[in-house]
Amino acid sequence: MDLPTTADIVIIGGGVMGASAAYHLAKRGMKNIVLLEKEEFFGTGATGRCAGGVRYQFSTEINIKLSVESLPMIERFKDELEQDVNYRQCGYLLIATNEKDSTHFKHNVELQNSLGVQTQLFSGDEVRARLPLMNFEDAIAGTFNQKDGIVDPNSVVAGYINTAQKMGVAALAGVEVIGIRVRESQVESVETTQGVIQTRIILNAAGPWSGQLGQMAGVQIPVVPIRRQMFTTNPLKEIPENFPFVIDFAQSLYFHREGEGLLIGMSNQDEKPGFDQNVDEEFEFINLEAAIERMPLLEGASRASHWAGLYEVTPDAHPIFGGSNVKGFTICTGFSGHGFMHGPVTGKLMSEYILDGKFSTLDVSMLDLARFEERRSIKEYNVV
Ligand SMILES: Cc1cc2nc3c(=O)[nH]c(=O)nc-3n(C[C@H](O)[C@H](O)[C@H](O)COP(=O)(O)OP(=O)(O)OC[C@H]3O[C@@H](n4cnc5c(N)ncnc54)[C@H](O)[C@@H]3O)c2cc1C
Repeated sequence: MDLPTTADIVIIGGGVMGASAAYHLAKRGMKNIVLLEKEEFFGTGATGRCAGGVRYQFSTEINIKLSVESLPMIERFKDELEQDVNYRQCGYLLIATNEKDSTHFKHNVELQNSLGVQTQLFSGDEVRARLPLMNFEDAIAGTFNQKDGIVDPNSVVAGYINTAQKMGVAALAGVEVIGIRVRESQVESVETTQGVIQTRIILNAAGPWSGQLGQMAGVQIPVVPIRRQMFTTNPLKEIPENFPFVIDFAQSLYFHREGEGLLIGMSNQDEKPGFDQNVDEEFEFINLEAAIERMPLLEGASRASHWAGLYEVTPDAHPIFGGSNVKGFTICTGFSGHGFMHGPVTGKLMSEYILDGKFSTLDVSMLDLARFEERRSIKEYNVV
């Protein structure tokens, strides 16, 4: 398909955010929607590299509410978009090994329960009983929600893109945005590697690269890319079907079933911002040692694959939704390590903002870009 020369909106980024927004805008009847992805395939940025975890368990009301809206959209995905996304509700089990985390966990469960989310608080003994293959002698509490689980990110992106294309969206891969023209504080056009598109509205859904796109328009977006990595093992017959998504919270170390083996990851708290997506082998070794300590049977396992991707991190670990100081330049980014699960509702919210000027499904107006300058940040504790 040739690059259109005009558009009613240009969405930059073909990850879960851009794909969901394109679908939801088309569903609302918007025409002349163009979505641009610089890579050869959609969903190869953070979305395609993520762990696929979806959870209700957060520590702030707004993040819990985003999950309350978004996860049922994933449950309904197949009915609505005729695409199976393999939602496995294996539950997330977050484990606290110190008093500080345990206190936060209790507060989180109370908050989640007050919002209708049925998360349970486990004692250390209950954690150990649930995980006989793991060493958690130091566990003092856990939180468990059976409706949390794992979803296939590529299927979600494919479902949105394919349906959006059928509805007339020009979704183009292999086209990079290299400039944005703004005149008198209003978006005028987008310059790409394949030509210029005249448009008065842009949605910056470029994830870890969204700060760069902001700079092209003269908008400061405080999102930094931080590398995160993981690896998978060969099949492990000892791992039961119902093995939950386990998070050793203090170490940011996690395990979940992937095929017949495990997917294991750990966040390097010393990682510096940057765009490097190569696996840090030294840190992978540290991750492996920590994993073996928790699950000794991994001593005999071998690595099946490994990869790294980029979190798109904001100073308060909450996303940014809405407009900017440049008219027509809208943003949804900064999900800080847990955006995949909020992709469905984000696309819907951005379609409301772009077409109606306000968010109706859920009021996320406090998550605007201006909050950083105006010191209205909100801190999320459950960041992995
Ligand atoms: C290792 C890892 C594990 C994760 N685990 C989870 C998890 O378990 N659960 C969860 O919910 N979230 C998880 N996340 C976070 C989640 O992946 C992200 O929050 C989410 O995918 C962000 O989606 P996005 O569409 O904004 O970004 P992306 O998927 O990165 O999409 C942005 C797209 O924009 C494109 N782009 C950039 N610049 C340009 C340009 N100039 N022109 C055209 N296109 C451009 C990029 O190529 C990219 O495809 C994880 C992330 C990582 C890295």
